[in-house]
Amino acid sequence: MSKLIFPALEVPTLEIAGSSDRIPVQRVFCVGRNYEAHAKEMGFAVDREEPFYFTKSPESIVADGSTIPYVAGTENYHYEFELVVVIGKPAFRVSKEDALDKVFGYACGLDMTRRDLQLSRRAKQLPWDLGKDVEFSAPCSAVVTADKLPDPSTGRIEMRQNGVQKQDADLSLLIWSVPEIINHLSGFYHLRPGDVIFTGTPAGVGAVQPGDVLEGTIANVGSLKIKIGDKE
Ligand code: MN
Repeated sequence: MSKLIFPALEVPTLEIAGSSDRIPVQRVFCVGRNYEAHAKEMGFAVDREEPFYFTKSPESIVADGSTIPYVAGTENYHYEFELVVVIGKPAFRVSKEDALDKVFGYACGLDMTRRDLQLSRRAKQLPWDLGKDVEFSAPCSAVVTADKLPDPSTGRIEMRQNGVQKQDADLSLLIWSVPEIINHLSGFYHLRPGDVIFTGTPAGVGAVQPGDVLEGTIANVGSLKIKIGDKE
């Protein structure tokens, strides 16, 4: 009988609010430029033709309350605070009308980004992986079940850096709504329970420094608090 010659990675998991059970994280999808004011601050007119995505490795998920390193390879490490959707049922070619039935719940997430590398790759029309698929770059809160946010098209989303408000918006400003994202993404992927989708960040992104504390809340979802550790 054959055996694995290297230890397999442990499946990353998310806490479920109010439960001792946990969610295995399968894949991490992220929507780009999904708030008009953020698209503008990144130098783009908003594109309503179709959403676009990038992915992070599931191992980039870290728990609420963690200290994450100021990762290697960047001099401009940025926060992006986002609503995270957790898929709870298989979803392939799902209509907008049926999309919310596939959602297990929601969480608060940070899409930490090597902004310098994202922008330099973007300028050369190269992939964004080094900018976005970053180790420890997807802090995620406990997941609340979907009944706590029956209408994900409304609710305040805000984030503070060292107690100073940096991002303050509303989910109603999402260019692509949660049902529209699931409808579109499920046309390309057989979405599975445990897949998570970072839905994009509002305006107000910025750089972090070692020692910073990031704390964000989304109405009816909860909050997430992360500390930035030393430079690697
Ligand atoms: Mn993002």
